[in-house]
Amino acid sequence: MRILVVEDDAGIAAGLRANLQQRGYAVDACGTLDAAWAALRSETFDVVLLDLGLPDGDGGQLLARIRRSPYAKDGLPDPLTPVLILTARDQVADRICGLDLGADDYLVKPFDLDELQARMRALLRRSAGRAHPLLVHGELVMDPAAHAVLRAGTPVELTPREFALLQLLLESRGRVLSRQQLETRLYNWQDAVGSNAVEVHVHHLRRKLGESLIQTVRGVGYFIPRDDPA
Ligand code: CA
Repeated sequence: MRILVVEDDAGIAAGLRANLQQRGYAVDACGTLDAAWAALRSETFDVVLLDLGLPDGDGGQLLARIRRSPYAKDGLPDPLTPVLILTARDQVADRICGLDLGADDYLVKPFDLDELQARMRALLRRSAGRAHPLLVHGELVMDPAAHAVLRAGTPVELTPREFALLQLLLESRGRVLSRQQLETRLYNWQDAVGSNAVEVHVHHLRRKLGESLIQTVRGVGYFIPRDDPA
């Protein structure tokens, strides 16, 4: 899952980045509205964490701009991109204003990182169109909150990247995702991505979870079939 942090306080941005990367999220951080807009135009993000007080304006302007963006237009962000506002402003009027502009959720600083992660998981669930917190596929059960995977009831150890890759494929069941689509969701700009990084993770997932789970479409990408493979 790829996260954009829009925050001008370098300490908060670094803390968020470290915490989220530890959980397997790919994180990019911007300190201004201009940089954030440029990032949103060049990459697809699963969640935007948005500060309101930024050096070149109010985060609400960026949010309004995202929501006004047309659907499926190259070079413009998806207008439905989940946005969670992080701000020191705790006035009711500010909160209402943020939600009316189209924010999906709101946290007042200082916030608890566990609460932030739980809210992000809820947003990701909603944007993937599922209300159930577990992903179940045949004998496989993934619990994103507990960061746990069970195969036929037995826990399977996955690295954060393997976990993130499996989650992406499970959430897009039946749809082929290209290596490039997977890379942009798994890595940020600073990550040095080896040309076969995704293949290596797929290889490890197959070894741990069974060869038939993830299918290859040669020259196109990978997918998990919609039907129960068992
Ligand atoms: Ca700020």
